[in-house]
Amino acid sequence: PAPSPDSILKQLQDSEVKFLRLQFTDILGTTKNVEVPKSQFAKALAGDVTFDGSAVEGFTRVEESDMLLRPDLSTFLIYPQFSREEGERGRVARLICDVYLPDGTPFEGDPRGVLKRQIERAERLGYQMYVGTEPEFFLFERTPDGRGSTVTHDKAGYFDLAPIDKGERIRREIANKLVEMGFEIEASHHEVAPGQHEIDFRYAPALETADRIATFKFVVKRVALEYGLLASFLPKPMAGVQGSGMHCHLSLFKDGKNAFDDPAGEYGLSSAAHHFIAGLLDHAEGMAAITNPLVNSYKRLVPGFEAPVNIAWSTSNRSALIRIPAKRGNSTRAEVRMPDPSCNPYLALAVMLAAGLDGIGQKMEPPPAIQRNIFKMTVREKRHHRVKELPTTLREAVNELQKDEVLAGALGEHVLDHFVEAKNAEWNDYSSTVHQWELDRYLDLI
Ligand code: GLU
Ligand code: MG
Ligand code: MG
Repeated sequence: PAPSPDSILKQLQDSEVKFLRLQFTDILGTTKNVEVPKSQFAKALAGDVTFDGSAVEGFTRVEESDMLLRPDLSTFLIYPQFSREEGERGRVARLICDVYLPDGTPFEGDPRGVLKRQIERAERLGYQMYVGTEPEFFLFERTPDGRGSTVTHDKAGYFDLAPIDKGERIRREIANKLVEMGFEIEASHHEVAPGQHEIDFRYAPALETADRIATFKFVVKRVALEYGLLASFLPKPMAGVQGSGMHCHLSLFKDGKNAFDDPAGEYGLSSAAHHFIAGLLDHAEGMAAITNPLVNSYKRLVPGFEAPVNIAWSTSNRSALIRIPAKRGNSTRAEVRMPDPSCNPYLALAVMLAAGLDGIGQKMEPPPAIQRNIFKMTVREKRHHRVKELPTTLREAVNELQKDEVLAGALGEHVLDHFVEAKNAEWNDYSSTVHQWELDRYLDLI
């Protein structure tokens, strides 16, 4: 239950908060905020703060550029202090907001609104989606003048211990800050690549998790900065080593019980789970544009680095796009291994939910689960098992997204159009650039 405006106002006063940030997210997933001073707190809590949306990526519609920020009071929190200077400037609190038009209708370009629409659709069918994520990131050195680099701050590997793992201190600091902000941290460890880390927080209803991913990324970057490092969520910052994924563990609940669990079903999974998985697989190609939205995302989705390439599911191996972890009962869930942490979390969860619900709506059946390492299958075996491959470029993924009516419908025309336009521009810029690889490979030879 959300606190009342009065109780928030009281907390703001009691904690001597000087600034309140009203946050929202643009279509590409960047967190934006309008900061208001004390004198405006009451107005902000009443949802009366307007801002000019025309300069925000993907919000541009000059004729109606004034927009309203309506805070979701359940997202209220007071930021921990990240540095001493910050402490001296006074405490800062935040509220995550929904974006409305001046006439009081929700703005259709608001990604949080897109996710809320899918959540409402699920609720009409009696379902609630819960999501747990595993965001991975790199810690890099900064150059003496403060710019980022791809020099990793350590040379450790999977689950290594300090002192090899210099990241341990920073990870603990990040975890402490997140706990102060109400996160329940489940695990934190060094990942496979040098300088690569993962911090997992407890699963929650989809909207809460999307809000948390946005907060998480901010805190990781902020704490790293305090240590003079660069935290990056770029999916594949270095060739030849693992990239960073953001696996999403999805489960549906109905009447307070896990709706994926059925001891009598195949693999202990209910028919709803089978349909949901089938929907995810069916829409995977178009989904990729949203869950893997950068040119760079597709350099992670290559064989050999525990990132998926093949559109398949499995109850045992990690080469598949969807893995069903062993636990059943209320922990029964589908781990979608495709998303990377550069995605807009609201849109990513919205398209996954839309895809799964489409599977349920159409009673889709998934192809048989594949228990072998798919990377070791021949082309013929893959054809036999009906295993398709994920898009290999952003261009291909965006084309698939445009062809996918279910996902297009879930995003809505405004978000889809602006997203496609931005991604096409990104692709065109990339593909008209001459890269070092081309010079190294061809210049002398040709
Ligand atoms: N880093 C891998 C990826 O790109 C995932 C490793 C893991 O299973 O945690 O998805
Ligand atoms: Mg991991
Ligand atoms: Mg995982």
